[in-house]
Amino acid sequence: MGYLTTDLLDKIKDPVLFRTLTEVLPQGQGRIKVADRIYTDISSNDYLGLSYHPRVVEAAAKALEKGLGASASRLMTGSTCLHHELERKMADFKGKPSVTVMNSGYQANLGVISAICGKNDCVFFDRLSHASIIDGVKLSGAASFRFRHNDMEHLETLIKKNRRKFKTALIVTETVFSMDGDFAPLKDMVRIKEKYSCLLMVDEAHATGIFGEKGSGMAEKENVTENTDIIMGTFSKALGSFGAYLATNKRIKAFLVNRCRSFIYSTALPPPLAASCIASIEIIKEEPERREALLKNSKHLRDSLTRSGVPTRGMSQIIPVILGKSEKAVDVSLMLKKRGWWAIPMRPPTVPEGEARIRVSVSYHHGADVLERLASDIQSVVM
Ligand SMILES: *Cc1c(COP(=O)(O)O)cnc(C)c1O
Repeated sequence: MGYLTTDLLDKIKDPVLFRTLTEVLPQGQGRIKVADRIYTDISSNDYLGLSYHPRVVEAAAKALEKGLGASASRLMTGSTCLHHELERKMADFKGKPSVTVMNSGYQANLGVISAICGKNDCVFFDRLSHASIIDGVKLSGAASFRFRHNDMEHLETLIKKNRRKFKTALIVTETVFSMDGDFAPLKDMVRIKEKYSCLLMVDEAHATGIFGEKGSGMAEKENVTENTDIIMGTFSKALGSFGAYLATNKRIKAFLVNRCRSFIYSTALPPPLAASCIASIEIIKEEPERREALLKNSKHLRDSLTRSGVPTRGMSQIIPVILGKSEKAVDVSLMLKKRGWWAIPMRPPTVPEGEARIRVSVSYHHGADVLERLASDIQSVVM
């Protein structure tokens, strides 16, 4: 290894935080194969099992016959009819005037925050925000203030103290937190954003397809769609595909098309992926029983863990089992793997220091019997 590479790796001082890649073979039905053994996958975000749903796969295959790549960015010749159809369908689904399709959730957060905010602006964001939000804030060059997780008093204190020094002020939160599975107090955030003339942006990465009467997310469930300026989400989790969306009014969309650099300077999403997203939206609308079963089973798992004394958090299909030290999370992960569960240890900086965990994500294909076994296996390796 050359001098430079050794030096780079030396920066990762703690061996328990060192990450490597594992080759996996997806098997469908919430299972994966690793090194010739089949595991129940409790770490994927494919909550509704749509990544291998025949209708979703066929929609992509049919579009694939016309070609794979979009061949140019959206502003050049990459803005295909499938992109436009997806944007119309998603806008209708989210109940917003328009949607801008982005290439990934990471690019969406990076691009939208840095387009809307600059040097003279400020961003208030939850301390547990996803890395893509933090990176968007950094890239924007705006002043930034982190409020304690879901602590609206702290948010309001920070706004009172700092808001008037800046032009645009943006408040950002996830609606369902990716590592804790809990919910942001959206109604309170709307009240605050209106009182202090801020923009509100929410990240529905883990809520899209799962929450609300229609299944469009927490903004729908909490009835704050109209008062939320930017609703972001991804197609890569419950929708089982890839790409992301920014649901906004038409003026914000026109602004993004002109100023959002991760939208402008990247080749458009491959059209077959747009076709698969359209199919996923249709399934979510037509089959509410998928998300209902998912949430019912998740509640069941959380309740049995709580009853057996295993501490968990949240209210969603994401069930974190907080273990503390990274070593502990790595150990528990190995013990669960021995028992046939593909459980990834979540360590800092993905989660706060001292809060390493196993983040169980339940899938539609994990039935009550599977989850009962999981609860008892978690109990016996953790307690
Ligand atoms: C996964 C995730 C993203 C990134 O989405 P991708 O489409 O995977 O790039 C953004 N925000 C949150 C909260 C996420 O969990």
